[in-house]
Amino acid sequence: MQNFSQYADWAYLVGAVLFILTLRGLSSPASAVRGNRYGMFGMALAVISTFFVAVNPNMAMIIAAMVLGAFVGILRARTVPMTQMPETVAMMHSLVGLAAVLIAVAAVFHPGVFHDTVHRFELFVGCFVGAITFTASVIAWGKLSAKLAARPLKGVWVKPVQTVLFLAMLGFGINYFVSQNIDSFLVMTAIALVFGYFWIAPIGGGDMPVVVSLLNSLSGWAAAGVGFTLNNSMLIIAGSLVGSSGAILSYIMCRAMNRSLLNVLFGGFGTATAAAGEATEAGERNYRSGSPDDAAFMMSHADHVVIVPGYGLAQARAQNAVKELAEALKEKGVTVRYAIHPVAGRMPGHMNVLLAEADVSYEDVFEMDAINSDFPSTDVVLVIGANDVVNPAAKDNPSSPIYGMPILEAHRARTVMVIKRSMATGYAGLDNDLFYLDKTMMIFGDAKKVVEDMVKAVSGKGH
Ligand code: NDP
Repeated sequence: MQNFSQYADWAYLVGAVLFILTLRGLSSPASAVRGNRYGMFGMALAVISTFFVAVNPNMAMIIAAMVLGAFVGILRARTVPMTQMPETVAMMHSLVGLAAVLIAVAAVFHPGVFHDTVHRFELFVGCFVGAITFTASVIAWGKLSAKLAARPLKGVWVKPVQTVLFLAMLGFGINYFVSQNIDSFLVMTAIALVFGYFWIAPIGGGDMPVVVSLLNSLSGWAAAGVGFTLNNSMLIIAGSLVGSSGAILSYIMCRAMNRSLLNVLFGGFGTATAAAGEATEAGERNYRSGSPDDAAFMMSHADHVVIVPGYGLAQARAQNAVKELAEALKEKGVTVRYAIHPVAGRMPGHMNVLLAEADVSYEDVFEMDAINSDFPSTDVVLVIGANDVVNPAAKDNPSSPIYGMPILEAHRARTVMVIKRSMATGYAGLDNDLFYLDKTMMIFGDAKKVVEDMVKAVSGKGH
């Protein structure tokens, strides 16, 4: 094996290039599958090469762990529905955090190894970042999968407890760094695990996707820390790529919601009482409602229809019905396109994933910036289970909490149709003026059922 170790660095370099190509591929739906393949090859190369750099590896244990991991991974990948992707990703991050903690603890206890200051720093930072990532990701998974209450933990005591835990964690970590006291290292790890809980528990379930993306970033940095501990350049590179891409994604999501990361992490929509508050007014305002048949008739006679999917589409699993509706309309000569807001749904790319699952052609799917200027010439906008991402208050009401958030400008279309179950608010807990416009027709019901009825009506009627 020794003779091969000199080649490992080259293999790692190729692996790193493949990972960069992966990120490039994932930047567009059309190249995403290719990007994923690069990632698979890069990872396989990295894993195989690592066998050759290890000193006296315990092959039986490594292979048993890999087989077990592959078994769980394949099973999960085959069975997870797209709607459970956010919590699955959160679970994955928890494992990266746990691995970082276990490796750091093993390194600290490794007999006869002296850790110089640089190593001790990597161990201390890598371990607490890993520990926080672990518990925080488990809580995020629990909230997203509704295994734990999505409700945020509240109370005046929360922030002081967070501060004390954070300072205590740093204090014990620094003591380990200075004095090499292993007990301090273990206490620091335990506090970091508890801190992970107190950090995430006060954040509302709806803000979890931003948190998951941030944890993705942290798990990357934890892996990079482990890379320093193990002196493994591949882990450092892969960890840094994950760390920086997660950080960029968190930034993009916050910008698309017009909120700062601090607002998400330390109290925002998900935590406020807003959800109940503003909805009450809704019942007193006038709106127009119609049936799926009315809507189908109008769409069948339109030239241009734009479908705006939102969280409710995912909830109702209406993606296949929507594709059928679009196909039925196209057969009648209607041009049908989809408009995607960057934070529609509850995770980045949520709508793209759902539409891809229903085999909607990428060519029909338009990002917000590409389609916004087309709304004034659109005959019918069909909003399906979306609310905040089409709320005009974001553009014209400076006192609205979402003022400044970029939106899909559905209100500029000639006719607007909105499918949802009631006049209830969306995620931000705000009433939506779009629903009360003269040109808007509300179609109440579960998105899947309503769209299926529309398909029947469109297929049954001609131009
Ligand atoms: P919203 O949460 O604003 O609105 C969804 C609407 O769907 C609700 O008003 C609800 O109304 C309706 N709905 C729910 N279930 C069904 C169903 N079965 N059938 C029909 N309608 C249904 O979603 P948007 O997608 O418009 O906006 C996303 C929000 O999430 C934004 O505020 C964004 O900032 C936030 N967010 C997004 C993240 C992301 O990464 N994408 C991350 C964090 C937050 P009703 O109950 O009346 O049916």
